Amino acid sequence: MSIYVFGHTSPDSDSIVGAISLSYLKNKLGEDCIPTRQGEISNETEFILSKFGGKVPELKTSYAGEKVYLVDFSDLAQAPKDIKQATILGIVDHHKLGDLTTDTPLECWIRPIGCSNTVIKEMYDYHKVEIPKDIAGMMMCAILSDTVIFKSPTCTKVDTKAVKELAAICGVEDYKALAMEMFIAKSAVEGASARNLNTRDYKEFDMNGTRVGVGQLEMVDISVLESRIDELFEDMQRMKDENSLHTIVILLTDIMKEGSRLLTLSDDVSKIETAFKTKLENNQAWLEGVLSRKKQVIPFLQPQF
Ligand code: MG
Ligand code: MG
Ligand code: MG
Repeated sequence: MSIYVFGHTSPDSDSIVGAISLSYLKNKLGEDCIPTRQGEISNETEFILSKFGGKVPELKTSYAGEKVYLVDFSDLAQAPKDIKQATILGIVDHHKLGDLTTDTPLECWIRPIGCSNTVIKEMYDYHKVEIPKDIAGMMMCAILSDTVIFKSPTCTKVDTKAVKELAAICGVEDYKALAMEMFIAKSAVEGASARNLNTRDYKEFDMNGTRVGVGQLEMVDISVLESRIDELFEDMQRMKDENSLHTIVILLTDIMKEGSRLLTLSDDVSKIETAFKTKLENNQAWLEGVLSRKKQVIPFLQPQF
């Protein structure tokens, strides 16, 4: 019976590439693994796959009775609905430990570093398995994406070293130029609906019994969204109602200015103001230096609930 390997809902490049790179490694180690995904791929992921000739993993949202490896998450709210009926063989991640539990022992590779694909790179090294050129290129891009070209506070020496080694394997000399091309592809907003923008990189969290949604748009220039702020708020209100959220936060992250414009709708805005030590104006604030949801946003929101 095949084992499925997949990342979180609203999959980002780390989730998709991680499914591919971890499946390849596991297959080399004698486990029959198939990479899958829980949702549509992003412009950025499409850019990476086409650059290195990667195949889009098959869409699969139900896993009852299956054996699985999870990549890039351990939160129930980001898992398939029937995950409790699946056997989790292992988790490879770089987020806070979530609320998933298992009935059987499992393999865990969870490290406080910039990207799940950096953890997977360490697994290849540990098992002494050679990384093919195409997979190395995709892993390199996933790390450059998650670490925002090394600017994110989540980035560590392990990540920069992994990128350099992967760049040598895939034969890309100027990996920062390639990363800029990738972020420009990611920043395309023309023709995108407000819902598409709000959910491109969107995660829900159960914060002490309270449901909180946090989306992030990482762009090379967020000013192109200036004329669409009202529309984003209208859709945030719909998302808040549809999913019975206490709070929804959308971060418009400007990777060149190195900060985020926070948009929020909340049943109690004082929680947001306290969390980020700021005063909201029209339900908005500029958070200087904030690039990382997992390190600079979630840890400050969580204690408010
Ligand atoms: Mg991710
Ligand atoms: Mg990641
Ligand atoms: Mg990210």
